[in-house]
Amino acid sequence: MKLLDTIKELNANISDVATSEKAKKLRKKLLVGGGIGAGVGILMVLAGFILFMTAGDSMMESMSPSMSSFIFPMIIFMLGGIVTTVSIFFIKAGLTILIGGESSKFIDKTVNTRCECGESVKEGDKFCPKCGRALRKTCSCGKVNEPNAEYCSECGKKLV
Ligand SMILES: [Zn+2]
Ligand SMILES: [Zn+2]
Repeated sequence: MKLLDTIKELNANISDVATSEKAKKLRKKLLVGGGIGAGVGILMVLAGFILFMTAGDSMMESMSPSMSSFIFPMIIFMLGGIVTTVSIFFIKAGLTILIGGESSKFIDKTVNTRCECGESVKEGDKFCPKCGRALRKTCSCGKVNEPNAEYCSECGKKLV
């Protein structure tokens, strides 16, 4: 049960961070921003590459190589690479929050609850043995309700 306690402790921290409204908004921003960024970045890489090839062609045709016609596509190419890398980092961060939030919801349902003071409490406990705070009520359907709830908000069963 030591491991379970550790998981619960970790979960309490992730859960607070990952399921908050702020995190949800941040997650959306990260995923949408990262997605757009990655798209733009890849387009830039492609554009840079095509421009580079075009510059090579025109150079061979005119036989007058100019370095500037290569530098510009290369800058676009490199910037595209950086934008893509940064965007993928954002997407990863967004996914981490998403997975953290979902897994903590899952653990919340399967493992018992925890008091706001951090003390882990047994299922069915009404008050925290450590600080005396009223605890959230877990319904038999698995839904965790607020301490003052009389009926389950999920299935409507009377909470004891
Ligand atoms: Zn407590
Ligand atoms: Zn219920």
